[in-house]
Amino acid sequence: LSDRLTTVFSSLRTKGRLSEADINATAREIRVALLEADVALPVVKDFIARVKERARGAEVSQALNPAQQVVKIVNEELIEILGGETRELRLAKNPPTVIMLAGLQGAGKTTLAGKLARWLKQEGQTPMLVAADLQRPNAVQQLQVVGERAGVPVFAPEPGSGVGDPVDVARRSIEQARRAQHSIVVIDTAGRLGIDAEMMQQAIDIRDAVQPDDVLFVVDAMVGQDAVNTAQAFMDGVGFDGVVLTKLDGDARGGAALSVRHITGRPIMFASTGEKLEDFSVFHPDRMAGRILDMGDILTLIEQAERTFDEEQAEKMSAKFASGEDFTLEDFLEQMMMIRKLGPIGNLLGMMPGMGQVRDQISQIDDRDLDRIAAIIRSMTPQERSQPKIINGSRRARIAKGSGVTVGEVNSLVTRFFDAQKMMRQMAGGIPGMPGMPGGG
Ligand code: GDP
Ligand code: MG
Repeated sequence: LSDRLTTVFSSLRTKGRLSEADINATAREIRVALLEADVALPVVKDFIARVKERARGAEVSQALNPAQQVVKIVNEELIEILGGETRELRLAKNPPTVIMLAGLQGAGKTTLAGKLARWLKQEGQTPMLVAADLQRPNAVQQLQVVGERAGVPVFAPEPGSGVGDPVDVARRSIEQARRAQHSIVVIDTAGRLGIDAEMMQQAIDIRDAVQPDDVLFVVDAMVGQDAVNTAQAFMDGVGFDGVVLTKLDGDARGGAALSVRHITGRPIMFASTGEKLEDFSVFHPDRMAGRILDMGDILTLIEQAERTFDEEQAEKMSAKFASGEDFTLEDFLEQMMMIRKLGPIGNLLGMMPGMGQVRDQISQIDDRDLDRIAAIIRSMTPQERSQPKIINGSRRARIAKGSGVTVGEVNSLVTRFFDAQKMMRQMAGGIPGMPGMPGGG
């Protein structure tokens, strides 16, 4: 994707403001990125519409080109949607607080119960787990193992009491928690591989019996497009207050997060990132946004560019550009150092207004070359730097010796510089890209 976006960037680079065409071009790429991340199509459509709306009203940035600006808006919007209303668990005024887990079989509910218990304990709570999944033979035992690992008691039907009633177990667990003064009860429930009326009714019955303070919908981040249907069914059925995304350690890009958030309006509260109890954290919208967009490098660049290239510098630069004659080797060096400050050279060239003009001269330069170029320029006298025309053969020999490079390298630098200076003059002569500029070639 980064490659595709780079193409968009280069075609938009020199434009000064966010036009409809700029926005549309970038929006198309974002659309593909979201679909690749398995965000559901209707969600993508709504999201893109929202982004376009915001982009149209956006002020033009000095530091970013239009495509980058759109990406920035997309990222901000993603973070806002994913995290807009992050909230903590709702703690009951009269303990125990009751948390009920719901979701398909295999979503990660039982594992999550252990993780939650461990985490809650660290938060100073005294949790208890409840085995209200009596569907699968090993479900109770699985929860007991998890509870033991977390160091948290598990309430389960007495062994040998036959197949218990999950609603009854859940109800009795609350009484037990009150007696034993547990501050929080986490109820693990049964799921089916697909949505199923009987399973949903059981969840509803448990809910009605225990009146949970929070129902958490547990969803596997790998399910992709299907997350929408599942989330909708649970929303319409048992209903839920928050979402937990599991299996984020997999390679799924996590479009399910955006889909579920968008479709249900419920906040994503926790993230599960592995099979071990400690693979768990509160949900971080910014990380998720980055993962869905999969433009980590570009987002980093945007951040850095904004930090480094403040308005003052932009003004100083454009003043320089406006009087092409003044562009000296000193400026050339300064420019290159500024680009270096931003990060790996290849990624950054041309990202700032005006910088694109010297891109071709320095695009082949890697970091080591940059050091040599800096050394060459520093071996020049101030007069040579400000009036490079005077750098004749004997001066070149002296500079080469002083900086420990060959005369050929000095020659090549001087040539590059004159090319860059020529472009600066062209820029000063008119709007970039306009025909009829003086000195055009
Ligand atoms: P439940 O049916 O909803 O109770 O799901 P389980 O908690 O039994 O989890 C189903 C499977 O997924 C088990 O093998 C878990 O070890 C695994 N699992 C659960 N959460 C995660 C996670 O965050 N990452 C990974 N890699 N595996 C997980
Ligand atoms: Mg389970």
